[in-house]
Amino acid sequence: MTDPHHPSDAAHRRVPLRVVPEPEPGSRAVLRPGALPAFVGNGTTDMVCGQCGTVLVRGIAPEEWKLVTIDGLPVIVLCSCGGFNEIPAIRPIK
Ligand SMILES: [Zn+2]
Repeated sequence: MTDPHHPSDAAHRRVPLRVVPEPEPGSRAVLRPGALPAFVGNGTTDMVCGQCGTVLVRGIAPEEWKLVTIDGLPVIVLCSCGGFNEIPAIRPIK
């Protein structure tokens, strides 16, 4: 678990995202990634689907949080389970 070359997922903080109703077409920025996770960063926070627990964003670092928002607005990521997960624009952790 301490091998830096193979950091365990157990060392990652899992943040469940809020599942929201399917947005009206064109009303929100919705990512429909062809493969998950949609984003892989250098940090230790995983954002997981609030519905099924699939990792949508792996290993995000605080300074990378803004990369998964658009113009500071929350982005919605469509999970393979069909859940629309809202990534908060303001990071809820330090
Ligand atoms: Zn899901």
